[in-house]
Amino acid sequence: MVEIPESHPRKRSLLSRQKIVEGSLRGLLAESAMIAHGRGEAFDYLLGERTTESAGSAIREAAARLTAANHPVISVNGNTVLLAGKRALRLAAVLGCAVEVNLYYRSPERVNGLLALLEEQRTLVSNGDEPQGFEGDWRKSVMGVTLLGGSPNFRIEGLEGPRSQCTEEGIGSADLILVPLEDGDRCEALVNLGKQVVVIDLNPLSRSSKMATVTIVDEVSRAFEGILSELVTNPNCIPTEWDNASALRESLVEIAEYLESN
Ligand code: ATP
Ligand code: MG
Repeated sequence: MVEIPESHPRKRSLLSRQKIVEGSLRGLLAESAMIAHGRGEAFDYLLGERTTESAGSAIREAAARLTAANHPVISVNGNTVLLAGKRALRLAAVLGCAVEVNLYYRSPERVNGLLALLEEQRTLVSNGDEPQGFEGDWRKSVMGVTLLGGSPNFRIEGLEGPRSQCTEEGIGSADLILVPLEDGDRCEALVNLGKQVVVIDLNPLSRSSKMATVTIVDEVSRAFEGILSELVTNPNCIPTEWDNASALRESLVEIAEYLESN
């Protein structure tokens, strides 16, 4: 692995790339994963690689809805596990919800590989520091996070093929799904089933962004971190009537403003 000097101005971005490349070499990602990552990078550049004001509002709304949900679940794909698996697990520990591996191009090898990686990450997170403000037994909460997706026994209605498979315990019975980098079709199908779908996607123009109940236009690690800190600092937040189309328009305005000022 090439050493990236501390002073490199694009260190974070290069480290993320490295994680994706490594994951690919280990057979944990579909071939299109790098394309999805590259598209994300391009949009992050246009956003100034920061959590914008409108993303901040969406993060607060997501935290409120996750708190209010009866049965939330965090759905993860390969890119998410590699870039932000530990953050997803911290969030799941605070919420007391499951993490489900759900792949668009499902293969048993990749699902099992990602579940094994999540297990390793879960142990690391359980031995690490708890989030500031967290009350309770951190180790127990983290080790209590159920990892799902290995044995799908449920089909998402309205979708065909392997991408419709999920678990009944997780996505099948969830009332709210937090899903980074989701595909537009599956997002639409989940919404049609009456579920709330909170999408994290750097592209405000993607179909998933448009279909979601709440879209957080932000990088997945930053978004997870933002939701977590909102949950522990403001545990009594209440959902609002959320106008997702207007929030997406706001993120396009923020891109235009950023480009004008740079
Ligand atoms: P659709 O338009 O149907 O939603 P899509 O073409 O956007 O599909 P993918 O090709 O799977 O679907 O793209 C995944 C999405 O994830 C892209 O829109 C990309 O901007 C976004 N993305 C990639 N990396 C990240 C990341 N690290 N954090 C947040 N979003 C990301
Ligand atoms: Mg998408």
